[in-house]
Amino acid sequence: MLKVRKVDPLCPDMAVIKEASDYIRHGYLVAFPTETVYGLGADSFNGDACLGVFRAKGRPPDNPLIVHIADLKELNRVARDVPDLVLRVIAKAWPGPLTLILPRSPDVPKEVTGGRDTVAVRSPAHPVALALIKSSGVPIAAPSANKSGRPSPTLAEHVVEDYINDNINIYVIDAGPTFFGVESTIIDVTKNPPVLLRPGPFTLEELRSLFNVDIAVPEFARGLGEADVVLAPGMKYRHYAPRTRLIVTECSDYSSLTRLIRDTAIDYLRKRLRIALLITKETAEALTMYPEFSDIPIIIIGYREDPYTIAASLFDSLRSLDKINVDIGIAEGIEERGIGLAVMNRLRKASGFSLVKCKS
Ligand code: AMP
Ligand code: MG
Repeated sequence: MLKVRKVDPLCPDMAVIKEASDYIRHGYLVAFPTETVYGLGADSFNGDACLGVFRAKGRPPDNPLIVHIADLKELNRVARDVPDLVLRVIAKAWPGPLTLILPRSPDVPKEVTGGRDTVAVRSPAHPVALALIKSSGVPIAAPSANKSGRPSPTLAEHVVEDYINDNINIYVIDAGPTFFGVESTIIDVTKNPPVLLRPGPFTLEELRSLFNVDIAVPEFARGLGEADVVLAPGMKYRHYAPRTRLIVTECSDYSSLTRLIRDTAIDYLRKRLRIALLITKETAEALTMYPEFSDIPIIIIGYREDPYTIAASLFDSLRSLDKINVDIGIAEGIEERGIGLAVMNRLRKASGFSLVKCKS
C-alpha cells in the first residue's frame, strides 16, 4: 500500500514528517526527496528493515545502500577512522550531493553494506530529507527509490509508477521535483589517491580543488565499460535503462553532432523503425529546417548551454521515452564537463553502451 503525502519542499508540514518517521522507526520504508533523486529509506541500524529495501526494489543484495545522516555528530555512529583531510572536506561539502566511502562502524548491519567493511555516507541538502532523518532519530539507509535497473525517480509520481502494483507498505513524501536530478557523486576515500566511483552534481573539478590531490577517474565512472566489482559494487548492473532501445550520439564538436543525429535518425527511418529524439532545445530548433523530422516525436532534455537543466530532466526524459510508442530513442550527448560528466555516465549506461560517435 502506498501512502502519498504532499509537502512543501522548503518548509515541510511536520505532521507528515512525524508520520513518515514513525514508519522508519517501526521498520517500514519511506520514499523521500533529496536534492539529487528520491530515495527509498529504512532505519540503517535495522538489518531486516534494510532487507525490505532490497526486496521492494528487486535489488541484488551485494549492491550496498548509502547511509544518510543529518548531523556531523552522527558520522561516528556509522563510520570510523575518518582522516582529518576528509573531515575538512566534509565540513565544506555537507550537506550536499557528495557520498564518501569510509571504513564501516560495527553498528552498521551487514545488509546495508552488502557485507563490506566500508560504508557509503552522505548528508543530503534537502529540508525534507534532513527533517525526516532528525525526526526518525536514526541515520537512514537509502538507495534511489526506483525499481532496480529503472531510471531513478526525480518526482514522487515516478516512485508511485514503479510500486503501484506491489503489495508493499511505502510512505511516499511528495515534495515535487528534486533539485539536481542525478544521483550523488561517490568518492572512495579509503584509497590513495581517492577514486571517483560515480560522477554526480558535486563535480570532479570541485573535488579536485577541495581535496587538493589528484583523483583517480576509472573508465567506468565515465560510463564506459563495466565497473570493477570489488571497487564499485552494484555499478556493474545495467542501470537507468528505459525499456525502449536507446542510442547515444557523441561528437567533440557541436556542428558535427547535429549532422550525426540527423544521419543516425535517417538510417533508422530507412529501416522503417519508429524513432524518437531526446535532444536539447538548441538542437530541436536546428532540426526544424528539415521536413523529414516534422512528424518525429521529440523529447526536449534541456538546454545545451545549461547542462543543469539536462541533469534535472534526464530521468524523466528516459521514462517519457517508454510512454510513447517507438522502437528506438536517439539521445544527444553533451560535453563531459561539470555536471555533464554525470549526465554522460547515466546516458551511456542507460543505452547499454550503444554509442554512435563522429568519425574524428
Ligand atoms: P544508488 O544511489 O541507488 O545508486 O545506490 C547507492 C550506490 O552507492 C550504489 O551504486 C553502490 O554501489 C554505492 N555504494 C554503497 N556502498 C558502497 C561501498 N561500501 N563501496 C562502494 N560503493 C558503495
Ligand atoms: Mg540507484
